[in-house]
Amino acid sequence: MAMPRQLQEGLRRRPKDAPPRPIVEQLPAISVKELKIPSLNNPKTYILPNISLRIPQLTNVRVCNVFVEFHHKPLHRGDEPLIQTFNLKHHRAGFGIRAAFVCTCGKGIYKLYYLNRRIACRHCHNAVYASQAISRQSRPVLQETRTKYFLNNTTKLGESTRKRLEQRLGHKTSCPKARWEQE
Ligand SMILES: [Zn+2]
Repeated sequence: MAMPRQLQEGLRRRPKDAPPRPIVEQLPAISVKELKIPSLNNPKTYILPNISLRIPQLTNVRVCNVFVEFHHKPLHRGDEPLIQTFNLKHHRAGFGIRAAFVCTCGKGIYKLYYLNRRIACRHCHNAVYASQAISRQSRPVLQETRTKYFLNNTTKLGESTRKRLEQRLGHKTSCPKARWEQE
């Protein structure tokens, strides 16, 4: 039987000995939300405090309303400092204005990721989501873990919503999909 076209294409694009693609959830992320971008009429520039606690390879992040500058820690003393600058674009969202990073690939994006001394969007890092990287059999386990986490950690969730969700998802969340399909 001839090889399916999709498989052929996949094998062509991704040789067998290629290193595994990075997992989005495992990369340190910088979200545009946590940066508190100044509004368009505020010309202030500020330094994001304590970024090196979260991403030790960064020394400094400078934020103003048109760009964000990431300063990398030099590998050796006396090295030229490596600085990555991302422009910001502002667009109307709902009632307010929302900012997004403009990645070097041109995409407007809300989250940037750190990998190998480089900050970029998930497309540029060629990263995949955990759900894309695991088999069909283990996907329900991931879903279950995430639902449990969601139910246990969402404090804003009202008591009645929580009960309703648990009632609806209870059976499914307590066992993997493969099992409840058989029942
Ligand atoms: Zn990109």
